[in-house]
Amino acid sequence: MKIGIISDIHANIEALMAVFEYFNKYDIHRIVCLGDIVGYGPNPNEALELIASRTDTIVAGNHDHAAIGLTDITFFNEYAKKAIQWTRDKLLDENIEILRSFPFTNEIEDESVLLVHASPLEPDKWLYIFTISDSILQFSSFDEQIVFVGHSHQPLVFKMNKNSGVCDNIRSSFFQIEEKSRYIINVGSVGQPRDNNPMTSFGIFDTDERTVQIVRLEYDYFTTQRKIIKAGLPEILAQRLALGV
Ligand code: ZN
Repeated sequence: MKIGIISDIHANIEALMAVFEYFNKYDIHRIVCLGDIVGYGPNPNEALELIASRTDTIVAGNHDHAAIGLTDITFFNEYAKKAIQWTRDKLLDENIEILRSFPFTNEIEDESVLLVHASPLEPDKWLYIFTISDSILQFSSFDEQIVFVGHSHQPLVFKMNKNSGVCDNIRSSFFQIEEKSRYIINVGSVGQPRDNNPMTSFGIFDTDERTVQIVRLEYDYFTTQRKIIKAGLPEILAQRLALGV
């Protein structure tokens, strides 16, 4: 079975629709979501409703929690704060309840796969995994073979040899899951990529072939930009979509 892995949608419905069109085209019916469905973007209710209609395997992101007052936003930058306040005003009551129902961690049954928004170590602390040394600390905090994460908005893959404990990056966008290794896989961000590439980013996990692919697709970010400006959200949130930062 092929499973679509999406993360960090950030209320960008144009990017999300492009990803779901891809899933439809390639008959990918199982979807899991690693959180940050809302925040930054102009369509929080629509993004949430679309995802909730396709999957119940979802974990909470820090922006999802911030939007419903479950996470302190003192440390958010001023644009993120403004966007969270805007999102709070827009969220429908039933969608607040949906956001409240998301757990910190989830799993793909029978596959030894953990799902978490930020990090398997202290999921409620929203830690980032950018470097190999970050990953070493994380590998000792979970038992599964694979953890899929989001949060940094950068597709990044870390692999640890089970015998030697040696960790490394995988730079390829398509790779085999080896029996002798464990993995921390960030599939990148659907709605606000930050690796200097504006294309939407997501993952495909093939449970039969034991492969993972990171897919990049162009989408109509001009429309999203126009909506951000029209909504009165900070302009920088529109500008960054064109740059992938
Ligand atoms: Zn995010």
